[in-house]
Amino acid sequence: MKYVTEAVHASKTYLEDMHSEAIAMTSAYDFASAEEAAQRFSGTQTGNVYSRFTNPGVELFEHRLAALEGTEAALGVASGMGAYLLLGLTFLRQGDHVLLASGIFGTTTHLFKNIFGQFGITTTTIAASDLNAWSDHMTPHTRMVIVETPTNPLMEIANLRQLADIARKNNALFVVDNTLLTPVFQRPIEFGADIVLHSAGKFLDGQGRCVAGALAGRQEHIDRLRLCLRTTGVNMSPFNAWILSKGLETLKARMLLHEHNSLQIYQWLKNHPAVEQVISTFDENHPDASLIASQQKGHCPIISFRLNADQAGTLAFIDRLGLIKRCTNIGDAQTMITHPATTTHCRYPAEERNLFGISDNLLRICIGLEEPEDVIEDLAQAMSPTHPQSTLRVG
Ligand SMILES: *Cc1c(COP(=O)(O)O)cnc(C)c1O
Repeated sequence: MKYVTEAVHASKTYLEDMHSEAIAMTSAYDFASAEEAAQRFSGTQTGNVYSRFTNPGVELFEHRLAALEGTEAALGVASGMGAYLLLGLTFLRQGDHVLLASGIFGTTTHLFKNIFGQFGITTTTIAASDLNAWSDHMTPHTRMVIVETPTNPLMEIANLRQLADIARKNNALFVVDNTLLTPVFQRPIEFGADIVLHSAGKFLDGQGRCVAGALAGRQEHIDRLRLCLRTTGVNMSPFNAWILSKGLETLKARMLLHEHNSLQIYQWLKNHPAVEQVISTFDENHPDASLIASQQKGHCPIISFRLNADQAGTLAFIDRLGLIKRCTNIGDAQTMITHPATTTHCRYPAEERNLFGISDNLLRICIGLEEPEDVIEDLAQAMSPTHPQSTLRVG
């Protein structure tokens, strides 16, 4: 065999005794015979055909996620928004209606309202906690109900069990975006959700390495979604699937540490005179504290707080931070801070922002895995009234 040919064909059996999973970077698969190829294509034999359809590395991630969410099956997708796109393309038809919780990820609302809106799908947005409004706005055409709980950055809570009942009575699919809590702290399927969605590049990866998405639920639903994925091509990359499979191995350990660290920072912020208000599910006076206790097993490390400052003072505070990263992402080992009014919510008019509570002095911090003392030290120096550039009002 010529070396060029050997370089192309040499066997990769050395991977077999690898302890950690190999990355299944392959686009296609070899068939043992022409007959097998024919059977795989006709569907009489299950097996890999092409990585837009299935990939062993992606299947490993799907298997692990389904187990964690306590459901039959899962589907890896290119991104969280790709997962929402599949949901709409698979389950909605012209004339259908979708109920969305207000305060969910802005791009999700944009996708359903404006993009799917082009194809005759209508939406209604409802405050998560207003249960009567959910029933009132159900129509015979309502096919899907989408919530996030808690919402980001204002930590509103949706009652999963009651919304699942309302959706089921009306034959609508109940979809829960579980990106913020992950199955470690909340398993929506147990409360009656039909489908759980993840922006998997957040806590599931946990180290800011990739953009990815996932859906989990009953086999019949995942099968339909997978058929749509094969045709639309929003498949997960095998490399990202490997990152995520390894991420899931440490998910519980990371979430518990995120929670432990964020509780300390929450308590510190609550007692600081330069802080006007702290918004977190740790708050015993949260309007849905009992619901939080009954449906969450833990708290997401996102804390929102309002400074005693105007917008300029709030932005100057962010610029004085050293350790804490100025980054609009969430779910990372590194603590990150963002100013929603000028970033994630900048497209909303000022009156609407203020109405929803996205004030000019609101900040959102997502606590990472550093020693909390170091995060507190950074916050403290930037909040200090003796800081040469400080304009914060203390007390
Ligand atoms: C980031 C995010 C999304 C969008 O996911 P992508 O992976 O960025 O496409 C959806 N929902 C929530 C809650 C998110 O935080």
